[in-house]
Amino acid sequence: MPSKHHADAAVVSSIDETTAGAILTADLGAIRANYRFLKNLLGRAACAAVVKADGYGLGAVPVARALAKEGCDTFFVAHLSEGLALRKAFGPDLVIYVLNGLPPGSEGACAAAGLRPVLNSVEQVRAWDALGRGRQPLEAAIQVDTGMSRLGLQPADVIPLSEDARSLAGIRVSLVMSHLACADEVAHPANPAQLDAFRALKPWFGRGTYSLANSSGIFLGQDWHFDLARPGAALYGINPTPGQPNPMKPVVRLQAKVVQTRSVKAGAGIGYAHRLVASRPTRLATISLGYADGWHRAAAGAAFVDGVRLPFAGRVSMDSIILDISALPDGRLKAGDLVDLFGTEQTVDDVAALAGTIGYEILTSLGQRFHRVYLDG
Ligand SMILES: *Cc1c(COP(=O)(O)O)cnc(C)c1O
Repeated sequence: MPSKHHADAAVVSSIDETTAGAILTADLGAIRANYRFLKNLLGRAACAAVVKADGYGLGAVPVARALAKEGCDTFFVAHLSEGLALRKAFGPDLVIYVLNGLPPGSEGACAAAGLRPVLNSVEQVRAWDALGRGRQPLEAAIQVDTGMSRLGLQPADVIPLSEDARSLAGIRVSLVMSHLACADEVAHPANPAQLDAFRALKPWFGRGTYSLANSSGIFLGQDWHFDLARPGAALYGINPTPGQPNPMKPVVRLQAKVVQTRSVKAGAGIGYAHRLVASRPTRLATISLGYADGWHRAAAGAAFVDGVRLPFAGRVSMDSIILDISALPDGRLKAGDLVDLFGTEQTVDDVAALAGTIGYEILTSLGQRFHRVYLDG
């Protein structure tokens, strides 16, 4: 089966364990468990999966393959190029929506690959319709902007389109969707306002399939579920309910190799700009991971070994970080040993907070120098 071949290649193409500086482990079993958990919350509504930005940095092909085993048959990517890659890896069976829709001139490539664009503007609707009229109607989602001002037709644009049925003769609308701007803030008044605006579309599109909720939107309650939910972040273990305990299973483990260890005297300058000067004799370990691997320079965190916290000493470098390992027994760490950066002691969301950003950005910034391991429980 060609799909299997491509999917395996995506896993094997990672850097081998001996030569890599760090190891990134994605627990596909946990992603599957997260999918089942969301599906259960959704009840009768279906659950798609968002695998844009290479599956939030974890690998769109292995993630989609794992979720397909859970019965997930509808996937969302952001860019047409991502849709083409996913189609190539999986063959014709999966439904793949392209959130950013059709770049001008790309309609033929999109149709040839059997991808469904999310039509975001009257121009995109017209272009897709024109292509569909020459053959069978082409499937697409129509996105309406219910209050985010990012992507989608204005509700006022929808009315003339749907009143004149002939204007959509080349399109089969397989999904009507919108996106929530403030779903992670439960009490934000934009949520019910967008819900009302979305419900107001029903008379224009009738009995179609409707989709509003991302990960956090699922947790706003059943009213937001409609026919199909589009979670991304929660599948990858990012907390969809900020400020409350994370209901999702952790997915990512990041371990870096120790390059060398040393002892320095009080007064030694440590790292760039001598940002830290040792106040006492200190044992240090330099690890093989830095901001080029997506570890934000602003995230002055720690690594963990045997549950012991090893704070960063001085600045994060491009390819390395210095750790203060004085809290460990002498000789515990040597070259090649692994320390934990994302794991049970420190989550992706924790590191995001240190960097003043969100878990989404941390995951999608992860670099290309890891040995990647996929667990499937
Ligand atoms: C990224 C995205 C999603 C998934 O959002 P999460 O917060 O990661 O669940 C869903 N819908 C649209 C339109 C998106 O852009």
